[in-house]
Amino acid sequence: MKKEPILYSVTPFDPAGHRLKVRLTIQNPDPDGQELSLPAWIPGSYLIRDFSRQVETIQAESNGKPITVEKRGNHSWFCAPCSGPLILEYCVYAWDLSVRGAHVDESHAFFNGTSVFLSVIGQTDETCHVEFCPPPHASNWKVYTSLPEAHQHPAAAARHGFGMYIAPNYDALIDHPVEMGTPQVVQFEAHGAVHEMVFTGVIPHLDLERIAFDTQQICAAQIKFFEPETKKVPFLDSSDRYVFMTMVTGDGYGGLEHRASTALMASRHDLPVLSQANAGEGYQTFLGLVSHEYFHTWNVKRIKPERFAPYNLSRESHTELLWVFEGFTSYYDDLMLLRSGVIAEKDYFRLIGKVISNVHRTPGRFKQSIAESSHDAWTRYYKQDENSPNALVSYYTKGSLVAMGMDITIRTKSGGARSLDDVMRLLWQRYGRDFYRGAPNGIPEDALPALIQEATGVDVSEFIERYVHGRDDVPLEALLRSQGVSLSWAPAPGVTSLDVRLRSAHGETALATVYEGGAAHAAGLSAGDILVAVNGLRVTDTASLERLLRPYQPGDVVIVGVFRRDELRAYDVTLSAPALTECVLDYRQ
Ligand SMILES: [Zn+2]
Repeated sequence: MKKEPILYSVTPFDPAGHRLKVRLTIQNPDPDGQELSLPAWIPGSYLIRDFSRQVETIQAESNGKPITVEKRGNHSWFCAPCSGPLILEYCVYAWDLSVRGAHVDESHAFFNGTSVFLSVIGQTDETCHVEFCPPPHASNWKVYTSLPEAHQHPAAAARHGFGMYIAPNYDALIDHPVEMGTPQVVQFEAHGAVHEMVFTGVIPHLDLERIAFDTQQICAAQIKFFEPETKKVPFLDSSDRYVFMTMVTGDGYGGLEHRASTALMASRHDLPVLSQANAGEGYQTFLGLVSHEYFHTWNVKRIKPERFAPYNLSRESHTELLWVFEGFTSYYDDLMLLRSGVIAEKDYFRLIGKVISNVHRTPGRFKQSIAESSHDAWTRYYKQDENSPNALVSYYTKGSLVAMGMDITIRTKSGGARSLDDVMRLLWQRYGRDFYRGAPNGIPEDALPALIQEATGVDVSEFIERYVHGRDDVPLEALLRSQGVSLSWAPAPGVTSLDVRLRSAHGETALATVYEGGAAHAAGLSAGDILVAVNGLRVTDTASLERLLRPYQPGDVVIVGVFRRDELRAYDVTLSAPALTECVLDYRQ
């Protein structure tokens, strides 16, 4: 018997109170009692977030009679007895301005399915219908999502109405975030496929055409990269379009990938406006984010670790392979900006130099490997504190350096015949291309060395042992030299010889991190200490600290006055030479 689709309806019924109302109709609930649950985390962001905590009220009825809803554990509800179709109505509080949750006010509604759609246990493979209903206060809102409409319009590019949408199963339902409102929108095609960019927030004179033009170059380059013969886009297994939905704020930054869309946060100041000749480094940051999330359409949304196929959304899922999915993606995001021609070579070198500098400023890289960092993402990378630079390594940044080192190694050892590109294409063909077409297998934890050898003929197992499972620095200086690129080190501008990271706010300058083994550590200073004086002269901000330290040489001792809690303390600090942490790349003449 073909089961009736599961039916949801979602209404932003209380924009001022930031509330969504959801009605869920299950035609064939388990007669012994129906369990429902909400994900504990959202794929792509490896932290238990307990979205269920935002469900304010929930009630159920079956055959017109109210029935008991019993909460079980943190994320589950149990409804019994179910003598006929089960109808639930619940209210979700939505005031999380991030790419991971849900956010509703009078100007827009944005939500991820993981915050909104209860999964019907035992029926997660069933078709889901969702009716999006308009808010009571605004008649001009439209709907932007990669989730397909249940009734396709003849002109697919013209949709965006409220009404019925459809997902083949629960996994698909929660992988298409939704934006409602009156955003600025631009469309373009890349290799024949519709791409839509949606910008929410106040952005006067946004240069949509310029952004669309540059993004099109990036998308086209990536499509061609994975499918050089067919130029087939990856997302037609899930949607008739790809949607970039961007929330623009004063200082936003971040993104979360989905199978046919991405949710982004961007800073207003990073986006180009009309009449602006040069958009600057901030715009390159935005395009890098766009490139990163789009690359994930292949790498992590379809090419996945076995541990994520399928996702277990009720608890943490550990994999040691995030360096492949985030690190390789971070390597290719900037590389695709260069290959698609949206940035120049000197900009690419600047971006790579920044990544190398960042990794180099992290003493924690000698304590944790990127395989360990991947595994511990849930409890460490996603729960960073003042000591994290001393204790952790990022599988993003060091992962991208590993990718670069591996790429150069493969190119060198194969005499220029093979590269990391061949690895990505083999992974795509083997694991990614048919992932949503009934072949959902992922990469086993230990399979990478053999797959890379198969793709390139080059044995990189020693490289992986040393730089992925081991904690050595990737020897980039020598590797880049072999490519005609020089790598040199300089002191970072504005960095004191206290060996600390500073944080200024509300007229106070505090130590954000005390680097292990540095001058401040040796003297007894601590993260959290608020700087007040150097040799009796007042410190007001970072610049004043630099000025006060300028007369002194490495080896000189200064008295640093700080508040720790409300206690005034003084420490004798022997200044060190400014660390050479600024990496500069250039072509060797
Ligand atoms: Zn990513």
